[in-house]
Amino acid sequence: MNDQLEQRLKEAENMPRVYFDHAATTAPHPEVLDVVTRMLNHVFGNPSSFYKEGHKASYMLEDARSKIASLLDVRSDEIFFTSCGTESDNWALKGMALSSASKGRHIITSKIEHHAVLHTAEALEKQGYDVTYLDVDRFGLINPDDVEKAIRQDTILVSIMTANNEIGTVEPIREIGSVCRKHGLPFHSDGVQALGAIPIRPRELNCDMMSFSGHKLYAPKGVGILYKRKGLRLANFMDGGAQEHGRRGGTENVAYAAGFAKALELAYEALESEAKRQMRLRDRLIDGIIQRVPHTKLNGHPTKRLPNNVNVSFEFIEGESILLLLDALGFSCSSGSACTSSSLDPSHVLLAIGMPPEVAHGSLRVTLGRSSTDEEVDRFLEVIPLVVERLRVMSPLWEDYQQGRLASLIPEEGGKDVTILGGYGLS
Ligand code: PLP
Repeated sequence: MNDQLEQRLKEAENMPRVYFDHAATTAPHPEVLDVVTRMLNHVFGNPSSFYKEGHKASYMLEDARSKIASLLDVRSDEIFFTSCGTESDNWALKGMALSSASKGRHIITSKIEHHAVLHTAEALEKQGYDVTYLDVDRFGLINPDDVEKAIRQDTILVSIMTANNEIGTVEPIREIGSVCRKHGLPFHSDGVQALGAIPIRPRELNCDMMSFSGHKLYAPKGVGILYKRKGLRLANFMDGGAQEHGRRGGTENVAYAAGFAKALELAYEALESEAKRQMRLRDRLIDGIIQRVPHTKLNGHPTKRLPNNVNVSFEFIEGESILLLLDALGFSCSSGSACTSSSLDPSHVLLAIGMPPEVAHGSLRVTLGRSSTDEEVDRFLEVIPLVVERLRVMSPLWEDYQQGRLASLIPEEGGKDVTILGGYGLS
């Protein structure tokens, strides 16, 4: 085995790299790059200016807005450009907290949200707001009944993500949205990982606000969107000029807005075929990993799962060392969220699904994209048993297990939950 790994490490130097971290970010699509560079070259005006260059920029900005609105099946004046998904999340939560403070100060969210929501909620707690962080089940699912039970007289907002960025679980947001409707409560969903991967139409999903980010769907970094239902009162987050209907100050990034529109158009054109293709690759990876590597478990839901997400825990080893070895072998993967990969704490998402911290430490996230191929999956499946074996041989925990001093928490043949694959289940 060791010789084989050495051989693979040598070969990797001359092989193309495999990018398996599309949940962290995606490379801009060539057609998106083309739109963005054309805009930068030819449409430099300020959309607020009253002369030809300004009118042209304003026309291009509104064209991008209306294309996005039509793809999402919402009104143009419900689409607001922001700088990123994080800003959209901040705006939704802080804006609603500010505009509804006189009604109440209670917010409901979940334990598995991205830090863009969790840390915003924590910042609001410091300002006297009360936040309920809902539990999830072992697959990472939030129960709409739990949302209903948590609602109080002073609740002003529910924020539950559409799909989780680490384990890929797709939440029952339509049902959660309908609970919120029943109680007359605004519902925000962080749709950053879901947009471009599964069909998203905010109105059908009973969402009043949704956050999106360009760089997760082959547009550049530095552009996001907040969808806000018309009529919903939301305080500004960025004060300044009259841009974005006076809701978000700051000269608009016309080129990136146009790039976002192009990226969404391309994503929606290929949505079904790409989802099917990536699900097949995803399921090949999940099956292959579990079959080849003992004491390995799939994290997240087996069917209600993003088409591109694989998240597994290998018992008795560390995620960081898996990443380093995979990197040397030519694979770019992640141990969870890109924003927390420099932290040594186990993932809050894995802890929330009930994973013991020592197992959570040995987790790996592989996220596929439009460039992913069967050959890359084959290559990965060939090396992953070698990687895990090499690291287990060096691991004191593995030694303890072999000597009978430590029990295994994952059965040798892996979690049985993995047998029912093939879905992405946005209900
Ligand atoms: N929400 C989710 C679910 C994410 O996965 C991310 C990024 O990883 C964000 C929000 C933040 O988006 P951005 O990087 O555009 O700020």
